[in-house]
Amino acid sequence: MPGSSRLPVSLRETFNARKNSARGGQLASLNVDLLRNIVFILFVLRWTRKLFYQLKGRGILGSSVDIYTYVRRTLYGLFLRAPGVRTKVQTQVAESILKLERKLVPSGPGITRITELPAQGWTEDEVRGKLDELAQMEHTRWEDGRVSGAVYHGGDELMKLQTEAFGKFTVSNPIHPDVFPGVRKMEAEVVAMVLSLFNAPEGAVGVTTSGGTESILMACLSARNKAYAERGVTEPEMILPETAHTAFRKAGEYFKIKIHLVACKAPSYKAQISSIARLVNPNTVLLVGSAPNFPHGIIDDISSLSRLAYKKKLPLHVDCCLGSFIIPLLPKAGFDYEPFDFKLKGVTSISCDTHKYGFAPKGNSTCLYRSDAYRKYQYFIAPDWSGGVYASPSIAGSRPGALIAGCWASLVKQGENGYIDACHKIVGAMKKIEAALRTHPSLSPDLKVVGKPLVSVVAFLSTTLDIYDVADAMNEKGWHLNALQSPPAIHVAVTLPIVAAVDQLIADLVDVVEDVREKERVRIAEGGTSKGAAKGDTAALYGVAGSLPNKSVVVDLATGFLDTLYKT
Ligand SMILES: *Cc1c(COP(=O)(O)O)cnc(C)c1O
Repeated sequence: MPGSSRLPVSLRETFNARKNSARGGQLASLNVDLLRNIVFILFVLRWTRKLFYQLKGRGILGSSVDIYTYVRRTLYGLFLRAPGVRTKVQTQVAESILKLERKLVPSGPGITRITELPAQGWTEDEVRGKLDELAQMEHTRWEDGRVSGAVYHGGDELMKLQTEAFGKFTVSNPIHPDVFPGVRKMEAEVVAMVLSLFNAPEGAVGVTTSGGTESILMACLSARNKAYAERGVTEPEMILPETAHTAFRKAGEYFKIKIHLVACKAPSYKAQISSIARLVNPNTVLLVGSAPNFPHGIIDDISSLSRLAYKKKLPLHVDCCLGSFIIPLLPKAGFDYEPFDFKLKGVTSISCDTHKYGFAPKGNSTCLYRSDAYRKYQYFIAPDWSGGVYASPSIAGSRPGALIAGCWASLVKQGENGYIDACHKIVGAMKKIEAALRTHPSLSPDLKVVGKPLVSVVAFLSTTLDIYDVADAMNEKGWHLNALQSPPAIHVAVTLPIVAAVDQLIADLVDVVEDVREKERVRIAEGGTSKGAAKGDTAALYGVAGSLPNKSVVVDLATGFLDTLYKT
């Protein structure tokens, strides 16, 4: 035992005494050797297994690409931290953040900032006056249908009714169902109404949450906890089409679930089922599909995902946060659709945002489960807290009953006919934009629709123009469309306010594309010398972001953006 000479004297004596006691000595060293071998074998097995599942999941080529990307990102990260580069990058990031601050945080004479409680409370009229002023601050005109997505508005009358509903339940909190029985009843009814929209089978259940992100977090948490409780999975993994909403990545970060992204390539822009199947391993806790996804408005191949999930006995979450009250009504509104809901027997959970096309006030969503065998794993219960036995269904403790009342009022006011009507208008407008993109002589040569959108979002890209220049030029005309990356594209998420502005949208897009095309022609005629000159914000940000192998600069910028939100 070479190590024993370094032991303290007292220990060494004990050790030697044991060692010298006849057979005991042999046994002890045998045990140590055996233990060492077992640990070594387990170590090798563990890594062989990891390597096996890596190769099975990504193949030799895919794994090589992973390694290459990793090395490139790491090296570029080191480069960014090199002495000269670092200060330069930091200065540029600081400049950009300052520019952003000037845009977002009003300053100058005449701007009052409230940074502490008024010593004397204001009069009601003073408060009202100030609220009016705040509501009317200069902004992108969502009221005129100029903003893609963002404001899922059901009309002014509905908004009035929602405000009335808030008023009746301002202080209510569903954590006290005995104090607010009406709120409990409305919450249960909201879940039941959404379940019925998604063809839920007997025994299906659900919860309401504060929004799509929380619904997705809950579905992921439930899948993780279920796999741990029933299969002992301690290193959970989930498989996402790369177009799945970032809330799944957030869940991965918060709940320590490893994420596998599967590419969604042209022409369908749907993840291939064979690629997903290869990534399934004993650590897999959840498969995911979107109906439709946020970037391109495309419905994943949920039928095939369902078959895979059912065969592998894995939960499958379908994200209908965006599809919400449009996608289940496509058949009744007479539009094309693809199967996506509980009718597919492999689908175990669905997130549906009542605050998107349900037109409920923001802060409302639902997460539905095939049965309570799934839902129970998202519950939090502390039976032994000194504050009493504590049980809450989701992340929040206290919750705003007023929002549940606003949601319930929206659903029963709209009714199925109201939502079918909205579906007609919204999907109709999306199809109008899609048709213009595909056939308008000024648009079709340069713009390409991404995949085959069936719901409310249409995305487009360009192989001839810088699509971000198009986005910036649209911004200058007062539009706020969504910029997308990998591949560079833009999308329009049609809302009711946009329906009324859709002809103007197409006309402005035609102008803008003609203009950008002409500028590009001039640039090429001049030998490309003016490239980079006068880029707009979108082109600058995404142009740089897209070319960087390591996105730490973008992370710094985004952190600065978040900090800016809290500047008075
Ligand atoms: C909006 C959206 C979400 C998340 O919703 P939030 O309410 O913003 O948290 C999730 N998935 C898709 C496809 C979405 O469009």
